[in-house]
Amino acid sequence: MESGAGAVADESGAVQSPHPEVPLVRGVRLADGSELEADALVDASGRRSNVPGWWQATIGWWQATIGAHAPWEESTPIGVVYYGRHFAVRTGAPEALVAAPGPARVNLGYLRCTLRPTDNRTFIVSFTAMGQLRNTWRRFVVNGAPVALGLHVVGDAVCHTNPSHAKGASLAFAHAVAVADALDAVPHDPMRRAL
Ligand SMILES: Cc1cc2nc3c(=O)[nH]c(=O)nc-3n(C[C@H](O)[C@H](O)[C@H](O)COP(=O)(O)OP(=O)(O)OC[C@H]3O[C@@H](n4cnc5c(N)ncnc54)[C@H](O)[C@@H]3O)c2cc1C
Repeated sequence: MESGAGAVADESGAVQSPHPEVPLVRGVRLADGSELEADALVDASGRRSNVPGWWQATIGWWQATIGAHAPWEESTPIGVVYYGRHFAVRTGAPEALVAAPGPARVNLGYLRCTLRPTDNRTFIVSFTAMGQLRNTWRRFVVNGAPVALGLHVVGDAVCHTNPSHAKGASLAFAHAVAVADALDAVPHDPMRRAL
């Protein structure tokens, strides 16, 4: 999917939705205008997910016409920016770094730097400084009803947390398993899948 792409959730979704009060996402529209039909659309596009934008651009009108709910979002700044990069220890270089029992830290107050051994002869260097990252949580079931059928949002696209707390990957895996289980359990019932 490229920039400019979006969900297919238009008037045809009204006709095809098994629940007239809840719009149906029928697939995805690519940047070139072509459409891919799908029984389920999983958005795993990360913290910059454009699902709220899709909602405004393509299915916001449902709100006005039938009172459908918009996704709910809570977002607060965490006041930092956080960068990390993995490196491999070069063949022949000293092993001391990857053998170290714990991280090395430098804290200058306005900037923290951590060097931490990881697995397979690699290590990560991370920097935390003042910045604009946010904690964000979106809900796609509002007042007991899904905002759309056929749409499953997972990982950072639904909830992203302070990266220095190192929870995001676990949450993303848990979401992926939950969606896979729902698709497996009720493949032909988009309402139960959404709930
Ligand atoms: C600096 C930093 C350090 C972190 N450290 C940790 C850590 O130590 N431990 C931890 O658990 N979590 C950490 N996190 C958080 C973790 O990276 C995320 O929570 C996790 O990657 C979320 O997975 P995801 O699959 O939802 O999203 P992502 O990993 O962001 O994957 C989304 C993917 O979708 C792609 N994409 C987006 N839009 C489109 C499009 N239109 N078309 C095609 N592809 C698209 C993106 O290119 C990307 O590859 C860190 C985050 C940051 C920023």
